[in-house]
Amino acid sequence: MNVSKDEIRSAIRNLCSNFADDYWRKLDEERKYPEEFVLELTRGGWLSMLIPEEYGGLSAGIGEAAVVLEEINRSGCQATPAHAQMYTMGAVLRHGDEEQKKKLLPLIATGKIRLQAFGVTEPQAGSDTTSITTFAELRDGLYRIRGQKIFISRVQHSDLMLLIVRTTAKEKVTRKTDGLTLLLLDLNKEIKEGRIRVRPIRTMINHETNEVFFEDAQVPVENRIGEEGKGFSYLLSGLNVERILIASECIGDGLYFIDKASKYACERAVFGRPIGQNQGVQFPIAKAFMSIKASSLMRDKAASLYDEGAKAAAEANMAKYLASEAAWEAANVAMNTFGGYGLASEVGIERKFRESRLPIVAPISNNLVLSYIGEHILGMPRSF
Ligand SMILES: Cc1cc2nc3c(=O)[nH]c(=O)nc-3n(C[C@H](O)[C@H](O)[C@H](O)COP(=O)(O)OP(=O)(O)OC[C@H]3O[C@@H](n4cnc5c(N)ncnc54)[C@H](O)[C@@H]3O)c2cc1C
Repeated sequence: MNVSKDEIRSAIRNLCSNFADDYWRKLDEERKYPEEFVLELTRGGWLSMLIPEEYGGLSAGIGEAAVVLEEINRSGCQATPAHAQMYTMGAVLRHGDEEQKKKLLPLIATGKIRLQAFGVTEPQAGSDTTSITTFAELRDGLYRIRGQKIFISRVQHSDLMLLIVRTTAKEKVTRKTDGLTLLLLDLNKEIKEGRIRVRPIRTMINHETNEVFFEDAQVPVENRIGEEGKGFSYLLSGLNVERILIASECIGDGLYFIDKASKYACERAVFGRPIGQNQGVQFPIAKAFMSIKASSLMRDKAASLYDEGAKAAAEANMAKYLASEAAWEAANVAMNTFGGYGLASEVGIERKFRESRLPIVAPISNNLVLSYIGEHILGMPRSF
């Protein structure tokens, strides 16, 4: 990609300036999807930037994609309605066969089809992904799927879902990570035919997420990604990208809060002086800024390792943890700085405050990141 990160930042800022806080506030109130915003990102080629040029994308690296998501969130916009396409189609890129890539990637690149839904979480399994029970049985060239997923986002605004299922029961495999398979499911067709039921879940943020019931849903065998039973390793290979990109959104959120809080601390005067002159107000903002900047260094390190083809799991996990905690710290600091006005919807802080709580839990809860670092990086005993 022949565009500098600074140029990317300014292009995204420019795009986002057309989607001011009142646009997001209205959608938030009505729990509606930012269709116009996602279309603008698609038209600009930003959502398909990781797709190689030969398939119609921009051949960008993760470091550049990270800048896009960071800048979206820093501008007060929200990347979550569109971000999944960046990492879900990585599975097709890395593990799909040539036919799948030729068929799908150009359509994704032009925005003709959306691959925005990623079906992993199940009600009983929760964070323990290898305990999922949604099962696909291969008969006459079709996988027939029964089971249930929960908190599956953007199902109603996606054409395809990347879905992980069991093709061999957990009790029948030697390693619990075996027997899982990745499939690409045609959501439009399966919903229309009544083989998938979708029940929206209202959450504290404007995030289209759903319970999904698979009632003999069908996926042709040619829509399997990679080999049957190897889906867990394909899933893991995409998770580092997901962690780096989510960390970037958190960094964007954190900087949004710092920008707003430091400005307000200069402008708002009580007791005859700007509130920011009080170190009780000023120091927490400075501290939160340092946390964001430190997590940003870890994110940059993770992204450059990934783009060089080196191992990036430790750094990607640490970046996600540090950035999500730093964004939450900044969110609370901004709330304190704005006093009562922080709670008023029209100021914008409370919406972002709610939104910045999600990455502590999803797509992976921070406890699970701590457990990864404790066990896999520091070699301490496994707890599960
Ligand atoms: C708005 C939203 C959107 C989402 N979108 C998607 C999506 O598109 N696709 C998808 O597949 N999923 C999605 N998720 C699901 C999300 O990934 C899960 O909520 C998350 O992985 C945690 O799983 P859980 O909620 O079942 O929590 P649980 O696994 O039940 O955990 C509950 C709590 O216990 C802790 N815990 C559990 N086990 C341990 C342990 N061994 N040690 C220490 N602590 C532990 C966890 O850290 C957590 O704090 C979404 C969730 C939300 C809220």
